[in-house]
Amino acid sequence: MEISIPTLLRIKPNAMYKIGKYLRKENFTRIALFYGEGLKSLFDEQLRISFDSSEIKVKFEEVVYSNAVEDIFKSAFNLPPAIDAIVAIGGGKVIDYCKYIAFILQLPIISVPTSISNDGFASPGASLLVNGRRKSQKAKIPFGVVIDTDIIRKSPVRYTYSGIGDLISKYTAIYDWKLAYHMVQEPVNDFAVLISRNAVEVMVSHSNKDIKDLEFLRLICGCLVMSGVAMEVCGSSRPASGSEHLISHAYDMSAKKPTLHGIQVGVATLAISWLQNNPEHHLIKSVLEETGFIDFVSRSPLNKQDFIDAILQAPNVKENYYTILSDKEKMDKLIEYVQSDEYFNQLLA
Ligand SMILES: [Zn+2]
Repeated sequence: MEISIPTLLRIKPNAMYKIGKYLRKENFTRIALFYGEGLKSLFDEQLRISFDSSEIKVKFEEVVYSNAVEDIFKSAFNLPPAIDAIVAIGGGKVIDYCKYIAFILQLPIISVPTSISNDGFASPGASLLVNGRRKSQKAKIPFGVVIDTDIIRKSPVRYTYSGIGDLISKYTAIYDWKLAYHMVQEPVNDFAVLISRNAVEVMVSHSNKDIKDLEFLRLICGCLVMSGVAMEVCGSSRPASGSEHLISHAYDMSAKKPTLHGIQVGVATLAISWLQNNPEHHLIKSVLEETGFIDFVSRSPLNKQDFIDAILQAPNVKENYYTILSDKEKMDKLIEYVQSDEYFNQLLA
């Protein structure tokens, strides 16, 4: 199995305006540029200056509004020949869109997230709309990840909380993977576990957990990159996604008002870590408190009934994906917890 790892990594303030220089270094001089909705006007002018000063030619440009697979194919085949790389600027949607184009055309993609709501900006998968339904597809892991931490600091806090929720879930995901090994002999890739665990530990062991602190943001960005790489190393989402992700996916499908992926995942991680009797349950709780995640979610809570329904649906989300929720007794225990635990209920309404 061939493993690719992001080679170009720049995570620092003002990185956005040095992209031209970074691309030139890699010899990517003819690019296709994609923006997420509403972002072109914010970055266009300074990006032009950066590209011009490094003699980078933008041969194709598009603003992405959807992540429907039909639109992706259309864009992919509209690209002029002799493009060296694809550059995706924005959130999860445009990055997933471009990762799939890169996969179809076998081109390198540089992912430039303007918020860090999940680990998708450095992962090998893409969440796309296929026949109107959300589907996780294999795509291409980015060749480059450029994150301007100053832009992340100015992005709405809900995105950063979502990134933290996605990252903290590595504890419960790894537990479920090991459980799957014991229960149904699914092989575990120890190296992927190591990377994933280290990623979350770097975040939790950092003393200053102020989400406006540039250094803490830089660490979170790096950790999310590692989470993406862990998936590439073992060729599955196992090191990054367990029953807490299944609950979030089910919530996406059935809730009247789903919210950001990592917010849902973070809430589910708190509950699942309790159910697993996970040794890190208290650590998870205190990190979510310290960063302000708990406070933030309690001000815009998830819907309680939708959350319970999502737990019930979670085991049906992915075939052959053993987790703690595959055990009916455990599921009943979790529902009881969600219905009655006072602390947890501040996250639900
Ligand atoms: Zn995730």
